[in-house]
Amino acid sequence: MSKAAFIYGETLTNPFFGEEHVLKPSRIQYTYELLECYKAFREPSSRVIPPREATSDDLLPFHTPGYTEAVKSISDGETRFDPAAYNFSPYGDNPPYPGMFEAAIAPVGASLLAAQIVADREVDAAFNASGGLHHAAPNRASGFCIFNDVVIAIKYLLGRGMRVAYIDIDAHHGDGVQNAFYSSNKVITISFHEWGKFLFPGTGDVDEIGTGDGAGYSVNIPFLPHADDETYLWVFPQLVPPLVESFKPDIVVTQLGADTHYLDPLTHLALTTDGYTELVRRMGSLSPRWLALGGGGYAEGVVPRMWTLAYGVMAGMEWPDEIPPEYQERYGIKRLRDSEKPAIDDSIKQQTHHFAEVVVKEIKERVFPLHGL
Ligand SMILES: [Zn+2]
Repeated sequence: MSKAAFIYGETLTNPFFGEEHVLKPSRIQYTYELLECYKAFREPSSRVIPPREATSDDLLPFHTPGYTEAVKSISDGETRFDPAAYNFSPYGDNPPYPGMFEAAIAPVGASLLAAQIVADREVDAAFNASGGLHHAAPNRASGFCIFNDVVIAIKYLLGRGMRVAYIDIDAHHGDGVQNAFYSSNKVITISFHEWGKFLFPGTGDVDEIGTGDGAGYSVNIPFLPHADDETYLWVFPQLVPPLVESFKPDIVVTQLGADTHYLDPLTHLALTTDGYTELVRRMGSLSPRWLALGGGGYAEGVVPRMWTLAYGVMAGMEWPDEIPPEYQERYGIKRLRDSEKPAIDDSIKQQTHHFAEVVVKEIKERVFPLHGL
């Protein structure tokens, strides 16, 4: 029987950018509570594990000492550093906020712990829903991300001698992770996302395939707005299993951003809970060792459902569709899975599918031969 762990503690639910910001770490708490209501942690094969605390030293494998110090100083309310130099601005995506250092470093400790327990084979899968902050750069914040727990966790796994396949299904391109390993063949990064022409950060085109030793080890699968379950599940099996199988990873790291859902207010993709869960299932089946991280997701009634379903895949548990009454009463959410599908015009469906065909063809031509496929 497979063993799974969900990393949870209150330190993971503190907002980095203040209570008003669209990124609400309270969604980690709502996910945990929903799992609790489903009695997800009553079996010995499925546990909640509290995060370990991270320190500045944990950041240094990726972030510059200057950036780390600046975030701490700005977070403490000092004026030694210019926030704008690190992409913090009260008017932008990343408004500086008192206590942001502590709030932002907590998911790093959680991802490192999750990586460690999977590497040590204590569990087969570990899920840090507070992680997956894939945009942060070595010396600047970006796209609601201050510290890149993904890169830090992958570097930890590389340090343990493991080959890592990273698959990112967040609606936004996983640029920070791709950049960190762009010239490496020890990590293959595969990002599914809404095409950069329509969505932040603007990168992630099919021709970004890596450089030097890393040529062929960055794979980008952009979608047009309104790409739905059908399109995703048409593309995935053609590209991901062949690439990952030929790479032979020791572990799969997945970024499970929930902002691909059709109700997400910031993006334009059209996955349902069913399509998302199927993608998660297919990613999890690629390796016996699985580090799962969260990511984006801005529809409050959606994210806890998506991540509860994802954890169900990891723990090998099926939840009834009717949400337990105590959760229904608390949050007014009645069903775990979507009962509706997004209405998408046929001509739009055809366009998104045609675009996906072109992308698949392009990747098969450009990337597959570099792996002997
Ligand atoms: Zn996102």
